[in-house]
Amino acid sequence: MRIHTIKELKNLFRDRHNKRGYYDFVKTSLGALIILFVLIIFFVDVFEGVDLFKEFELTTLDYRLRFRRARNINRDVVFVDMGEDSIKKIGRWPWSREWHATIISILSQFGAKAVVFDVIFSEASSEFSDGAMEEAMKKANNVYIPYALELERYNKAKRAWDVRDIILPLERFSRWARGGGHITIVPDPDGIIRRVPAVVDYNSSVYPQLGLKVACNMLGIDPARYKIKRTFFGRYIKIGEDKKESIYIPVDEKNQMLVNWVGRWGQDFKHYSFVEVITSYQSLLAKKEPLVNLGEFKDKICVIGLTAPGLYDIKPNPLQPAYPAVGTNANVINGVLNKDFVKKAPQWLDAMIIIILGLLLTANISKVNPVRGASIALLMVLTYLMISFAVLDILNLWVSFIHPFVVIILGYLVITFYNQIVVSIERAKLFTLATKDGLTGLFVIRHFNLLLEADMERIRSRGGRLSILMSDIDHFKKINDSYGHQVGDFILSEVASILMACCRQLDIPSRYGGEEFIVMLPGASIEDAAMVAERIRSRVEGHDFRMGDKTYKATISLGVAEFTNAEDKRDDLIKQADGALYQSKEGGRNRITKAPPKPPAPPKPIERISKPKEKPGKPQ
Ligand code: GH3
Ligand code: MG
Ligand code: MG
Repeated sequence: MRIHTIKELKNLFRDRHNKRGYYDFVKTSLGALIILFVLIIFFVDVFEGVDLFKEFELTTLDYRLRFRRARNINRDVVFVDMGEDSIKKIGRWPWSREWHATIISILSQFGAKAVVFDVIFSEASSEFSDGAMEEAMKKANNVYIPYALELERYNKAKRAWDVRDIILPLERFSRWARGGGHITIVPDPDGIIRRVPAVVDYNSSVYPQLGLKVACNMLGIDPARYKIKRTFFGRYIKIGEDKKESIYIPVDEKNQMLVNWVGRWGQDFKHYSFVEVITSYQSLLAKKEPLVNLGEFKDKICVIGLTAPGLYDIKPNPLQPAYPAVGTNANVINGVLNKDFVKKAPQWLDAMIIIILGLLLTANISKVNPVRGASIALLMVLTYLMISFAVLDILNLWVSFIHPFVVIILGYLVITFYNQIVVSIERAKLFTLATKDGLTGLFVIRHFNLLLEADMERIRSRGGRLSILMSDIDHFKKINDSYGHQVGDFILSEVASILMACCRQLDIPSRYGGEEFIVMLPGASIEDAAMVAERIRSRVEGHDFRMGDKTYKATISLGVAEFTNAEDKRDDLIKQADGALYQSKEGGRNRITKAPPKPPAPPKPIERISKPKEKPGKPQ
């Protein structure tokens, strides 16, 4: 599209012959306005109260996560489930802590790299059990235990979470734990877990997420010493001092990271049963064949959590409606160890997509019909949908879908609507061009004939009245000869104006040819028509035709006729009016004449249908 200067633009508005350029200009402006509108919605959270947009966006993200190719699953991460079988064998929850002591001892004896509990040991139980667990933790030196942060909401002014409370494990446990982390999850408004606060600052301490803490320990870096990095590509937290070993985790303004869910529960990491691990150990001691090969735990990160139905924390995640919350830790560990993070696209990138799609749409649909436009818009939506899926799959990048979608749909609707308006305007103009006379603005005779015939036909079948009026300017040749054609034309158009002013809305004044006019007066009797004719005559007579500083005078003769004989054709009626006009000319001009009424055609004889004779009834 060419850039126009203001002067050129003004000319575009003014120039009636360059309408096409003007329409293009309006369409481009409409496209630009729509892009601007969507950008405003995108940047300014106009719909803060309405989460419809956000929920739609999140749902598309869920589908993108669900349908991407399988992620790289770190085989070092395994689950030890405290599931239904364990509850059956060991008894009702909570279990005596000797059980935890036992599993810690077994797992570390067989070389587990880390034992991660998703259970908060915040209250003391018996001295014996707690002592046993403390002892086991001390010996193993690779146990991670969680705490719970009760987060209220993110305080934008303080740039930190408001923490209502923090539930810590017993001091005797945390003393011997290799590390601790929070297991708080902040579901999105629709209840689905998509992200976790990676680090929470509270009372000048840093509380990392449990999985993040475990993974960082494996990498030899400390999440408590994180740094915020703002780059062109977005916000990150940087963990680790050394450039080579440090990791960058994409986070939002609340320091939340997107959990990179690797698969559905049971299809992601390997699962072991808590009670089976213990019975296998007993089998080994009794020199029997163990159920589980405990050697498999060598160098494993064992995530232990409650998975028995009714006991564990089930939350929906993007991949499935019920996912045990303990799994969040394993997915976080996996993401950090594989340095595989899902990242929200930076705002400038989303904005660019909105602009590019908006422009592409405007360029492509401004000159096509609505159906084609719809297919183009649909094709664009589908293509962009596929691109957004591919971008998440290949680049781990979550680009906005809803705003580009809105720009395409809204753009299509608005520009198509405008196109339809333009088409109607152009059609109306063509109609005028085809039916109106250029000099006088009256209907042309071709159009008049069509209307007259239609009205006569209507009267023939349904009844009603109709008169017509014909006029001819007196001595017009003389006017032309004495003052020139320009004056003639001027007088002609002025007379046409008078004619129009004297007619009703439903009358059809037309240019019959030359300086002759004809008017159709639906519903009018010959008397009504004569009254109109007289009004025209006297108005023309009294009118001063002023052109420049000169004034001219003119008179007009008229004839009227009414459609009374149903058999009369259009030309018969016109001939009657013409005859009357001739009479006016003959009679000295500047007058009106009524055509003598034509007797209605004799009615056609109606065939009588004679009643059939009644059959003689049977004598009773
Ligand atoms: P009469 O009173 O008998 O009608 O005399 P007249 O001179 O008006 O005769 P007539 O109606 O036959 O004359 C028609 C003239 O109108 C011929 C032509 O020069 C002139 N005329 C027809 N159309 C136009 C037009 O569009 N512009 C101008 N200026 N003159 C026209
Ligand atoms: Mg004439
Ligand atoms: Mg004339």
